[in-house]
Amino acid sequence: MTEPALPTARIARALAAADRNADLNVFLALDAPGATAAAHALTRRLERGDHVGPLVGVPIAVKDNLVVEGMKTTAGSRILANFQSKFTATAVRRLVSAGAVVIGKTNLDEFGMGSSTERSAYGPTMNPWNPRYVPGGSSGGSAAAVAAGIVPIALGSDTGGSIRQPAAYCGVVGLKPTWGRVSRYGLIAYASSLDTVGPIARTVRDAARALAAMAGDDPADMTASREPAPDFTRSLDDGVAGLRVGVLDGWLDGDVTPGVRGAVRGTANQLASAGADVRSVTLPDVDAALAAYYVIAPAEASSNLARYDGVRYGHRTSAAVTSLADLYARSRGEGFGPEVIRRILLGTFALSAGYYDAYYGRAQALRAELTGAFLAALLDVDVLLGPTTPGPAPLLGELQDPVTMALLDKFTISASLAGLPAIHVPTGLERGLPIGVQLIGRPFAEATLLQVARTVEIHSGFERAAS
Ligand code: GLN
Repeated sequence: MTEPALPTARIARALAAADRNADLNVFLALDAPGATAAAHALTRRLERGDHVGPLVGVPIAVKDNLVVEGMKTTAGSRILANFQSKFTATAVRRLVSAGAVVIGKTNLDEFGMGSSTERSAYGPTMNPWNPRYVPGGSSGGSAAAVAAGIVPIALGSDTGGSIRQPAAYCGVVGLKPTWGRVSRYGLIAYASSLDTVGPIARTVRDAARALAAMAGDDPADMTASREPAPDFTRSLDDGVAGLRVGVLDGWLDGDVTPGVRGAVRGTANQLASAGADVRSVTLPDVDAALAAYYVIAPAEASSNLARYDGVRYGHRTSAAVTSLADLYARSRGEGFGPEVIRRILLGTFALSAGYYDAYYGRAQALRAELTGAFLAALLDVDVLLGPTTPGPAPLLGELQDPVTMALLDKFTISASLAGLPAIHVPTGLERGLPIGVQLIGRPFAEATLLQVARTVEIHSGFERAAS
């Protein structure tokens, strides 16, 4: 039997793979010296016989909207081009305590606003399966880092689909935990009532290992749940016998490619043969969820992004200014990209006096109704099964108009609005590009979700062969 590679060798291999794939524009920053030093330290500890942790020597990549001490965090924006944090995000810190080594920060749509990583101020990331296609977004760099075989686990954030959708386009596993399951301390806020931190991984098992390391209460984030975090890997191989799976058949009616429809139907059949009780479930219209999301997320973004004013931190204009308001306007105008400006304008409008009830109030009512419908459906079934995306990845440059882009998220938005855990599992290819399915679970029932995902993974026989 060969010994598992020592951290020094594993990290050197990951850094070499990152260099080899430099053309994909996956990383906004690589920390070769820091990662190498951390790997040496771990190797020495292992040689001394120390117990290090379950992720010892695992190279990880971190979406560049999570802060890591000693490295820049840009959030994909010019406004934070030179921002360096004095602390490390809790999720990252916990993975590092478990033995993982951060090799670099990955590209994303500016502040997480986008679905293709083309809205980054630092250029798009290319899909490792075919560089003419987008990797999805906003965690496109993290999904590409895993798909290209650079790291087995990368961190993403998911507000409306930003972990699951890029995982789908890159043929890897992407887990959005229950809202509050993983601390958001050190995550650059987009829409706080929707933001989550979670893993993108090569396998369901790696996603479970990463979640197990990260989950749990955090005194630094009062919205982090106190719900005990079980060992999510323990029940992975328990199968699906006796579990009830609800298929979201209604989601397959509209604009879904034959490949994706086949993936959902095929998965339903496989789960039934594996002993699950599979039935059809009807839930509210995804278009209404999308409309509610595009009021709520920009409204929260307009408030969260008010802190970038050119005074406290971030870019400050070098132009001669005539007033404080002028300083704000010029700094923000120079620092924010067009998609971010569009969201701030939209959010500010939706919250303004006279429009609040018409837009924000109605969107919140819709959100409450949708959450109720999902929770009711999840009383009768353990997990829901449906598509993650309407089809495989679009071409680079194809998503010029914001509405076309928004439609790519129509199947991921609902679980975000309802705060539910959801996972993408790759199952096959369509036109040479990866496709797969989404599973949605009960609040804090990630263990069951991962258990079903593992069964789907086994039965799909999908080969992760991007690199
Ligand atoms: N594409 C969606 C948006 O732009 C979701 C992004 C996300 O989950 N961060 O808002």
